[in-house]
Amino acid sequence: MKMIRCALFVALVFSTALLAQTNPDWHTPFPAFKIGGNLYYVGTADLAVYLINTPHGNILINSDFPEDVPLIRKSIEQLGFKYADTKIMLISHAHGDHDAATGLITKETGAKLMVMDGDVAEEQSTARGRPGAHVDRVLHDGDTVELGGSKLTAHLTPGHTKGCTTWTMQVQEGGRRLNAVIIGSPNVNAGYVLVGNKNYPQIAQDYEKTFAVLKRLPVDLFLGAHGAYFGLKAKYEKMKAGGANPFIDPAGYKAYVEEREQTFRKELERQKKS
Ligand SMILES: [Zn+2]
Repeated sequence: MKMIRCALFVALVFSTALLAQTNPDWHTPFPAFKIGGNLYYVGTADLAVYLINTPHGNILINSDFPEDVPLIRKSIEQLGFKYADTKIMLISHAHGDHDAATGLITKETGAKLMVMDGDVAEEQSTARGRPGAHVDRVLHDGDTVELGGSKLTAHLTPGHTKGCTTWTMQVQEGGRRLNAVIIGSPNVNAGYVLVGNKNYPQIAQDYEKTFAVLKRLPVDLFLGAHGAYFGLKAKYEKMKAGGANPFIDPAGYKAYVEEREQTFRKELERQKKS
């Protein structure tokens, strides 16, 4: 048993390392652009970072890895904003591809870090790959974060991590009020234990909760923690070509959530049988 566990651990570490190496989009620059209203994209080609611009400074959602911070900073400045005006730092969930640089960004800008209760321990952890960042405000399901007239709501969508957060906000664009949804993650990663998980006994129920929440959120702008969730690259190209805003995609959102839920259910059944 010990040997099997050890082999599994090695396989997991190896596959994680392999994934990091084989996903070139993670650290590839991507043009900064306005999604709608005061909501902007300042992330890499896959690791999404969102900026909400207000008269009282800016909110950032996700930090990516420390090596990506110069790209994020450049994107913020290309939009005409100031990195130093970052007042609030939020995350999708406590995994390195979204939060490894929260400590760095909060130190450099003085931004206040606000994190869902279930992810606070991971956020403050100084273990390898963890940001070891000080959390200024602990969030709970349904809490709001407000700055300069903008309001974001933190929806607990757990499973992927215990405090995985889907952020929603409304933006005004062309006389229309749009509901933006930034999905935390509905994904069951390779190696996740859904049945008899000692460290996270309620993981399967948490995923159930997540899908119930995601299905009832009103959505116009379909966004998420990775560009791949919502087809960032193709939609950006469409946007450049002109016409209707391709990020307004409630049908794409619905199809994505349905597909992810089916994948979760299949994996749950597979683990129950084995
Ligand atoms: Zn993750």
